[in-house]
Amino acid sequence: MGKIRLDKYLADMGLGTRTEVKRDIKKGRISVNGEIVKSPEYKIDIQTDVVLADGKEIAYEELVYYMLNKPQGVVSATEDRRDKTVLDLISEKKRKDLFPVGRLDKDTEGLLLITNDGELAHNLLSPKKHVDKKYFVRLRDALSEEDKKHLEEGVDIGEDKLTLPSHVFVLNEKRDEAEIVIREGKFHQIKRMFHAVGNEVVFLKRLSMGSLTLDEALLTGEYRLLTPQEIERLK
Ligand code: URA
Repeated sequence: MGKIRLDKYLADMGLGTRTEVKRDIKKGRISVNGEIVKSPEYKIDIQTDVVLADGKEIAYEELVYYMLNKPQGVVSATEDRRDKTVLDLISEKKRKDLFPVGRLDKDTEGLLLITNDGELAHNLLSPKKHVDKKYFVRLRDALSEEDKKHLEEGVDIGEDKLTLPSHVFVLNEKRDEAEIVIREGKFHQIKRMFHAVGNEVVFLKRLSMGSLTLDEALLTGEYRLLTPQEIERLK
């Protein structure tokens, strides 16, 4: 993206709706490279032009990335008529083109990437790329060695093929807590996999996706921007 209209630039950066920012532009509140600009369609070079609103510099961010520790009870969607969405939790967002990368069930917690980078989302979600996803599960029943082996080799969840090989690490003596790493992302996949071995997931939390690991410091419902290093590693 090289050049964009001044009104879009300001609206994208959260200064108001398109109508509101047009009004501000016409009032002479916006300058570009030191000159007042009164036409909303004026083209801004996002690399080089300096835009000020009431004297305050407004830098343009083209792509933004948030890590959310999703709580239970919110849906992984951009809008929903009934439920609160994961985007409702990002209170400081400026941009309107954000979306969650993939879905976690309403009752699943944990790592969710929220961005406006469609290309990155595509790469992370493409079934061909086999991006690893790690989950913590708490189970209704103890997981036997046999069932663990079964899950790792592939189970029938009612799709054309068995699930791809996974890794399961039992975490406690009672054997009802485990971490599982899968490399596909079918609808309700983890719940269906444990169901296939006669067990049931009673709590599910995503811990990582590709190189991105949930920040332990984030309480459920909290979020932060990704660091430049985290963004670089994901690409
Ligand atoms: N698998 C599930 O069953 N649910 C999720 O939310 C994610 C993976």
